[in-house]
Amino acid sequence: MAEKFDVIVVGAGPSGNAAAYRLANAGLSVLQIERGESPGSKNVQGAILYSDALEKLIPDFRDDAPLERHIIEQRMWVLDDDSYIGSHYRSDTFNKQPYNRYTMIRSQFDKWFSERVQKAGALLICETTVSNLLLDGNRVIGVQTDRQGGEIYADAVILADGVNSLLARKAGFHPELHPKDVALAVKEIHFMPQELIEQRFNVTGDEGVVIEMVGKITKGMMGTGFLYTNRESITIGVGCMLSDFKTQQTTPYALLEQMKAHPAITPIIQGGEMKEYTAHLIPEGGYNAMPDLYGDGWMIVGDAGMFVNAVHREGSNLAMTTGMHAADTLIELKNEGRAFGAANLKRYKAKLDESFVMKDLKKYKNMPGVFHTNPQFFNDYPELLSKAARTMLTVDGVDKKSKEREIGKSFRQRRSLFGLVGDTFKLWRAFE
Ligand SMILES: Cc1cc2nc3c(=O)[nH]c(=O)nc-3n(C[C@H](O)[C@H](O)[C@H](O)COP(=O)(O)OP(=O)(O)OC[C@H]3O[C@@H](n4cnc5c(N)ncnc54)[C@H](O)[C@@H]3O)c2cc1C
Repeated sequence: MAEKFDVIVVGAGPSGNAAAYRLANAGLSVLQIERGESPGSKNVQGAILYSDALEKLIPDFRDDAPLERHIIEQRMWVLDDDSYIGSHYRSDTFNKQPYNRYTMIRSQFDKWFSERVQKAGALLICETTVSNLLLDGNRVIGVQTDRQGGEIYADAVILADGVNSLLARKAGFHPELHPKDVALAVKEIHFMPQELIEQRFNVTGDEGVVIEMVGKITKGMMGTGFLYTNRESITIGVGCMLSDFKTQQTTPYALLEQMKAHPAITPIIQGGEMKEYTAHLIPEGGYNAMPDLYGDGWMIVGDAGMFVNAVHREGSNLAMTTGMHAADTLIELKNEGRAFGAANLKRYKAKLDESFVMKDLKKYKNMPGVFHTNPQFFNDYPELLSKAARTMLTVDGVDKKSKEREIGKSFRQRRSLFGLVGDTFKLWRAFE
């Protein structure tokens, strides 16, 4: 007789690991299937880890998780061609335990997380791709893998298979991904001595800095750049919407090269040895691009469900939180002796609606539409802001009132009064 589990989790990224960990801890029989050689092998990137979501799952994670630096300073830069105008927030509160955010290297982190999942009792098989969902009518009853005789059955399947979510698309649960709903991001890791990082970013020990960047680095495309300090390396990257890359006819690699050549960025990465280059899609379509999240015998979590907050660059925490809520729904239903049909799984959606995940995604639901069609936010305003700062800070015998008039004129000339009012309204709509 074919083997049957309570739950099959497809994927061993943060969302799949969170779901499998929670389910196994509650005593359900869990099979987790990962196509990579090991968890994290398909995810070799430095990233920001938000403690709160992980802490809710594994309160003692700080004891042995492979963490790089805790973030004490956040910088936000708006760049034009040769300058930037920015803000820094640095707080000693962020330097007190328990730390709120860390940098980490995904390949190491996913491996650590998976060890915890397996210790909790889940069975993990790697180097195995789930090629199809097994259906009985509309109901998912298991998965077909690429192994010989690879049919495995379960009462529920959690799709934690990342942004492409091929399985849900094949089964008709998920519409085709639209290029306007996904960003293509590239990042590099540059290795350099720990002391050099500490000097350049004014930090000591495990303290770390994040720099988020917008402006002319994305050539008018909707996107952002970022730089994170790891213990002995710096992660630097840039991402823009896939549809914009198509119309602009440029490549992410060219964009990253131009970004690294910016006079504000070159000196802080100088001397580093680039050892890793990765490119990956990020589902940034937001609330309006979300697929159905559950049905008879199945649920979608993490990137597969478009759970990314692009404004705040949060993805892994939404992935873990959605994985946790999916698992909790199944645990509750199992304890109540109820089936895993759509009518009962709607509790998953109710849990998400109550959490920060849906509240935040709803808040920014207009954001992709606004920024996608208004390149002036990435081109004109960075230039205007930079010029305004330069005008005010240059001491040249011109009085300050005249300088203010000149700045006002340059804004009106570039965007018109009507345009400026319209842009203010658009910004309000994007972030309301
Ligand atoms: C460049 C970049 C930078 C980012 N920076 C941050 C950051 O700083 N902070 C943050 O919180 N988030 C960040 N994110 C987002 C974050 O990486 C994702 O939101 C998060 O990884 C989603 O987790 P997941 O488990 O849903 O998907 P994934 O991490 O993509 O995991 C999916 C897993 O499923 C496996 N899989 C896929 N299909 C199959 C199949 N058919 N059979 C078996 N296995 C399968 C894959 O191999 C993979 O291991 C970043 C993303 C990118 C691309």
